[in-house]
Amino acid sequence: MMEEAVTEKEFVVFYQPQMDLNTEEVVGAEALVRWFPKEGPPIYPSDFIPLFEANGFIKTLDTYVFANVCEFIATEKEKDHILKRIAVNMSGVTLLEEGIVEYCIREVRRWGIEPKGIEIEVTESAIAENADVMIQQLAKLHDHGFTISIDDFGTGVSSFSRLGEMKFDILKIDRSFLDGIFKSDRKLAIVKHILQMAQNLNVKTIAEGVETEEQRRFLRQCNCDWAQGYFYDKPMTKNELLVKYFKD
Ligand code: C2E
Ligand code: CA
Ligand code: CA
Repeated sequence: MMEEAVTEKEFVVFYQPQMDLNTEEVVGAEALVRWFPKEGPPIYPSDFIPLFEANGFIKTLDTYVFANVCEFIATEKEKDHILKRIAVNMSGVTLLEEGIVEYCIREVRRWGIEPKGIEIEVTESAIAENADVMIQQLAKLHDHGFTISIDDFGTGVSSFSRLGEMKFDILKIDRSFLDGIFKSDRKLAIVKHILQMAQNLNVKTIAEGVETEEQRRFLRQCNCDWAQGYFYDKPMTKNELLVKYFKD
């Protein structure tokens, strides 16, 4: 079904806004794919990404989403408003494919957009699984101007020794840290210190899964830069995003 789903355009890219915690303004969005089969209910990534990673189809999907995002930025860049940055998830499997870095470079050139406006999110666990190659791949993308972020930080094998040699711009704190955070002084201490470490490393921070005002306030107090979560918005279509935040 998956091959046909691409040609039939059943994969649709949704966008979840990311907000500046100080100004409360939208600073970007994360692209999250959904599958709308011709029949039946929509299918969410957790139900197909692991399968596609196992059968290799993930590269097709990730590059499809990547191209969609490039097109989106390219069509909006002529307008006055600034959609500063869109984050794209890239599976470790995709990043290990030959020619993937060249693909990304080709695609931004084809659309005439700045690579900086594309943030490539790779999970910490994907990096840890193949640290040497991954660090190299990410460095190449970073050298070509792409923004690199480490997703789900703190849930994989946090290899702090490798973190020191890695080129990345943004650290994305996994939503499991915020879950029940005010019932656990230990969790509070960990989040505070991850944020502190990121600041000392001179990288930006974003918290995902922000659901309450209390969480928002805490993150702001700890100088976290950006936030994403249901407290602000659920993932929405491209048009919903434009209507809500980027009115002409
Ligand atoms: P992720 O990268 O950690 O993405 C965040 C997930 O958390 C999204 O689920 C989002 O809808 C959800 N979320 C956002 N805010 C909140 C909140 O406040 N509370 C809660 N409980 N959840 C929130 P989604 O869209 O189902 O995506 C699941 C995962 O699938 C993503 O996790 C990402 O790892 C993967 N994924 C999605 N699209 C792609 C893609 O195009 N390529 C690849 N390789 N992976 C993708
Ligand atoms: Ca992500
Ligand atoms: Ca995440």
